[in-house]
Amino acid sequence: MPISKISRGSIKVLFLAAEVDPLIKVGGLGDVAGSLPKAMLTLSPANLHGQHLDLRLAIPFHAGMNIDRWNPELAATFEIPAPCGMLKAQAYQIDLDGLTVYVIQAGPIGRPGPVYSMITQEDGEKFTVFSLAALELAKALNWQPDILHANDWHTAAAVYALALRKERDPFFAHTHSVLTLHNLPFMGAGVEEALEKYGLPASNDPRLPTWARQYPLPLGLLSADRIVAVSPSYAREILTPEFGCGLENFLLTRQDAIMGILNGLDQEVWDPRHDAALAAPYSDEDFSGKAVCRKALHEEFGLVEDPQEALLTVVSRMDQQKGIDLVVEGLRQSLDLPWKAIILGSGDPTLERACLQLQEEYPGRIRAAIRFDSRLSHRMYAGADLLLMPSRYEPCGLSQMIAMRYGTLPVASEVGGLKDTIQVRQGNREGTGFLFHPVSVPAFRKALEDALAAYQSRSRWKTMQTLAMRQDFSWARSALDYALLYLKLKG
Ligand code: ADP
Repeated sequence: MPISKISRGSIKVLFLAAEVDPLIKVGGLGDVAGSLPKAMLTLSPANLHGQHLDLRLAIPFHAGMNIDRWNPELAATFEIPAPCGMLKAQAYQIDLDGLTVYVIQAGPIGRPGPVYSMITQEDGEKFTVFSLAALELAKALNWQPDILHANDWHTAAAVYALALRKERDPFFAHTHSVLTLHNLPFMGAGVEEALEKYGLPASNDPRLPTWARQYPLPLGLLSADRIVAVSPSYAREILTPEFGCGLENFLLTRQDAIMGILNGLDQEVWDPRHDAALAAPYSDEDFSGKAVCRKALHEEFGLVEDPQEALLTVVSRMDQQKGIDLVVEGLRQSLDLPWKAIILGSGDPTLERACLQLQEEYPGRIRAAIRFDSRLSHRMYAGADLLLMPSRYEPCGLSQMIAMRYGTLPVASEVGGLKDTIQVRQGNREGTGFLFHPVSVPAFRKALEDALAAYQSRSRWKTMQTLAMRQDFSWARSALDYALLYLKLKG
């Protein structure tokens, strides 16, 4: 066997996330947790200095989750120190296409309610207990992780707990931590009481602003050995007052620990050549199936298809972040342009109502589907011509990558991961989408005008679509970046 193929040991990684597709998915984090660990497991030890990854994922056993079809087995029962004695916990082990997943049940984790409550206090105990339980699980399994990899505020408390524990618990003496930042503004405000209750005191580190000293995300950012933002641009943006959410000065003190690694896509789930949800498959070499999908989508929503009009789409959480208000106002102020639009999304009731109102005003041009509907999202990415994504900030964003993979070109704000994944036309080099700045209705309208002009030029449009579809949005590069980071930390 060639020397490089010989495994010289393993890097043990405990990967924590609040959601994972297909067990439970609410947003982009579910996509990432469902695809990044799997992509890392396909890496060859030859690329990892002969080491192989022993990566295992842990998620909470949310209320109403059904994992029976994955034949769960009880992997461990253990206890977590709690205010009134010890709290019993169980971890069920399942195999997700070769990835070991522990689904952890303990007291507040399974309390009835959605994956994320609108009231963070309600989530406080759930995610604090989960974060602590994940560390206890490693001990119960006698499986010493080299790396603890947490994601967002929900699991950031585990990073903080690890830092507090490392000095007095030899089991974790050599465990390093990585915290991936998918969304800085969600810091876990309201979770203070739960942290205190479960023995995680406020920090008195003067680098942290006083208000942030008992929020799980800032505590994780303070304690993590490495912080990964989900795009290189976002890694830079969070150091500025515009995007730093009040933590910019603190984050500047941690600048050396911060890096950006772009999220990728599960290219098997998102592949117009083999997507069972579509009216017809298609590829970058034969677009005829896309025309069938476009026609079917118009019919599904009772819209009259007109080849001169671009079909615009939105697939998004209804949230201020995503600039849905700007879509509504932008479309209202662009009625003179040739387009029809279909909006899919759910979330903030005010934004949902604004979209429904727009549909009522212009039923022949605009349709709004207010729900979360994964299969419909596939049909929309395939059947539309343009995806609107005027995010106020966008750590990475998956929708624009999915859209490009389906030959649907994004009209997006020039921020974060949108800037890093969408190419704009430069001289003779054609682009894969349209970016605008600032995030305002006039700038949005101008970009829409440019996009519609490009749409009228069939040859230019086809070139752009082909380029967009041929982008490499796979996890391969980013999975390797993460694995090399683990390797470096392990030393
Ligand atoms: P975020 O994670 O901030 O919500 P991303 O663009 O990173 O945004 O990921 C959003 C993911 O959720 C994409 O896979 C997108 O297709 C999906 N999605 C968002 N809203 C809906 C919806 N209403 N129905 C189906 N899928 C949706």
